[in-house]
Amino acid sequence: MPTLRYIRVLAFFLSLLTLGGCQTTTSGGVVGGERKQLLLVSSQELDQVAAQSYAKMQADARSKGTLNKDGAMLARVRAIAARLEPQTKTFRAEAPGWKWEVNVIASDELNAFCMPGGKIMVYSGLIERLHLSDDEIAIVLGHEIAHALREHSREQVSQAIAAQAAISVGSALLGISEDSARIATIGYGALIATRFSRTDESEADRIGLELTARAGYDPRAGATLWQKMTNTSQGGRPPEFLSSHPAEASRVKQIEALLPTVVPLYDAARRHN
Ligand SMILES: [Zn+2]
Repeated sequence: MPTLRYIRVLAFFLSLLTLGGCQTTTSGGVVGGERKQLLLVSSQELDQVAAQSYAKMQADARSKGTLNKDGAMLARVRAIAARLEPQTKTFRAEAPGWKWEVNVIASDELNAFCMPGGKIMVYSGLIERLHLSDDEIAIVLGHEIAHALREHSREQVSQAIAAQAAISVGSALLGISEDSARIATIGYGALIATRFSRTDESEADRIGLELTARAGYDPRAGATLWQKMTNTSQGGRPPEFLSSHPAEASRVKQIEALLPTVVPLYDAARRHN
């Protein structure tokens, strides 16, 4: 008899919508960063998964001798991150108090990311191969931190769960059993395989630019960074920042359009230093 199962699954689906539903994770800043998002898992749950993945990644790198090999580079990246972290308060009041961690992996890969909750990893190839300036490193870190502030991974996991819950309601009508644990597993699978949407990338660019400027790094480095990236990534696998968005030109245009808004923040920050 599928009726009881149907009611249970439907109740689960509705509870997701009412308990989670559409919220926003951030305030707008001057660049606007408060789009409504579908959020069905808690930040705490996701932060826990992220912290575990991050610890495992560090342990793996340590065993291979690739964790924080270059002390000078580590100190440089940590100093830049330390100036960006307090600026996150513009978008999330509690974010400066996150358990931030910054590490560098020795690798030719052009990559960097910030996991939910502020776990940052930079691949040395990005800095070495692109000869990044401090301003350009700040742009990269600002962009990655913005993904974490906006909880783009949490949104993706939520969308995966919602899609699966919709399938579950259909399955229940057909008398096929589904359970919420499996749905959650599918959601976490989406965290591991995160590929951000173009909307996400655009938000990360905007918010990252404001964080960079407020931290006293030149937001005009955004344009030179993207130029270096597009020149270098041709042929190989594109780094995270360039994946899932073919139109680099439009990103540079967005950055340039925002400069009149964020350069005054940069000037003000420099006056205070
Ligand atoms: Zn990105």
